[in-house]
Amino acid sequence: MGKYIRPTLQTKYHIDFDWWRKQSQSLHRYLAEHLCDECKLSADSGESDKLTDWVDPDTAQVLSIDHLWYAIYNHCSRTPEFGGDDLTLVTAIFRLFIANNNIPLTPVEIQQRLHRKDARTILRTIGGKTTYKGIKPAAPIVSD
Ligand SMILES: [Zn+2]
Repeated sequence: MGKYIRPTLQTKYHIDFDWWRKQSQSLHRYLAEHLCDECKLSADSGESDKLTDWVDPDTAQVLSIDHLWYAIYNHCSRTPEFGGDDLTLVTAIFRLFIANNNIPLTPVEIQQRLHRKDARTILRTIGGKTTYKGIKPAAPIVSD
């Protein structure tokens, strides 16, 4: 086992679906909060908790993912309200990862895309001991 190394500004982050699987909070419910008004209407009318195949852009692994992810990725993330200034930093980062289909990004890249805070504040938020909404390093941070 390597020893723990602190995440840095160059550490790549993504949304860790394994983390979500271990939570009592459901990813489906949380994703539903990010739907635009139009999609909320169609989501309410039936199909919930459906899973779809999804290819991890980082590992090319095929995973099952909640279908709401696709709805948000394909539709809601392209609406102007999606990146609102009133979002908390964690919510804004979570939405950014849906919009880019969970391609791992460093705190510097996150800052460049969100245009808010600074990379160090972002690192302090997502790089601490508490994991927020499954935002975790994309690869285990270990040395050999
Ligand atoms: Zn939508």
